[in-house]
Amino acid sequence: MGKVNLLGLPLGKLEDFFDSIGEKKFRATQLIKWIHQEGQREFSKMTNLSKSLRETLARKCEIKLPEIVSCDESSDGTKKWLIKVDGGSCIEMVFIPERERGTLCISSQVGCSLDCSFCATGKQGFHRDLTSAEIIGQLWLAADSFNQFLKNSPRKISNVVMMGMGEPLMNFDNVVDSMSLMLEDNAYGLSKRRVTLSTSGVLPMLDKLGDVIDVSLAISLHAPNDDLRNSLVPINKKYPISKFIDSARGYIEKMPDNHRKVTVEYTLIDKINDRRHHAKELAQLLKDLPCKINLIPFNEFEGSGYKKVTNTALNHFRDILVSEGYTVTVRTTRGDDIAAACGQLAGNVNDRTKRQKRFKERIQDIQPVKVLDTIGL
Ligand code: SF4
Repeated sequence: MGKVNLLGLPLGKLEDFFDSIGEKKFRATQLIKWIHQEGQREFSKMTNLSKSLRETLARKCEIKLPEIVSCDESSDGTKKWLIKVDGGSCIEMVFIPERERGTLCISSQVGCSLDCSFCATGKQGFHRDLTSAEIIGQLWLAADSFNQFLKNSPRKISNVVMMGMGEPLMNFDNVVDSMSLMLEDNAYGLSKRRVTLSTSGVLPMLDKLGDVIDVSLAISLHAPNDDLRNSLVPINKKYPISKFIDSARGYIEKMPDNHRKVTVEYTLIDKINDRRHHAKELAQLLKDLPCKINLIPFNEFEGSGYKKVTNTALNHFRDILVSEGYTVTVRTTRGDDIAAACGQLAGNVNDRTKRQKRFKERIQDIQPVKVLDTIGL
């Protein structure tokens, strides 16, 4: 039997693990601090564990991370890592700096099965779910690259968004486990307002989410009515808009504080969903949902069949929403010179060069759909 990878186990599961090998549960807290606060991967160096426990852990367990293949930095400071996971597939992770700190966008799946018509990730198909170790491992690798594990080193990663490759709620348990570690005081200790999950509307899972974790929520809406959304986000045929809005409202109503707002993501596509009547319909649709709206200009890529919104249409759309009383942000794309728009690489690492070329040709700074919305959060 292979070794147990302890990297992705949240506190409760790690306590169960120690219990199962006849150790006290408080060992879990010690180990989590070593891994996620000290960046230590070698059991032999975990000096507050007994020698025999360290030997047992070395025999039975491992702390196994995904592997960085490359890291590119944009002229605006945005960084993009290409990361290899078990089986040879690759995912992307992006860091978007803002003054002192910044936002890390991480992936939850290799590819995506939801096939939204304007999304290059969807066009690549679904490969597999990431494990919780592969999800939290992305944060570990980024923290390590910023020397966050060194004593007195400033914490550069202030926000984490589950907006990279994949639909997080289709990989529910692993996403929840890894977000628990992001929030855990003995691990990364991020505030619940600084960890955001973005979903296209997998409603049974969204309805369950608020029972197990408290993080910020973003919903990928992109259309104000079912006919249009069915053509852009096919999962809408199964879970229509009104139910999506109800579930999003239900999620924030479950939270203990009552100032919570959902971020509504709306990608504007020329002559598809950017007309004045769409803006008015959207304003009406969202009237009972505490929210802010993030408008994302679509960028063309080969084969998408869609065109970028014009500045005039974008401004009119925004003005209508603002006049209806909404807080609206318009996303500016960052990192386009390194194609750091979103976690979109998938497949075997051996195809990397070919895929990167295709990716750059197709995407430019497409992506909008997810990653860079974070600027508006
Ligand atoms: S927009 Fe999100 S949910 Fe839709 S295909 Fe792309 S990654 Fe998947």
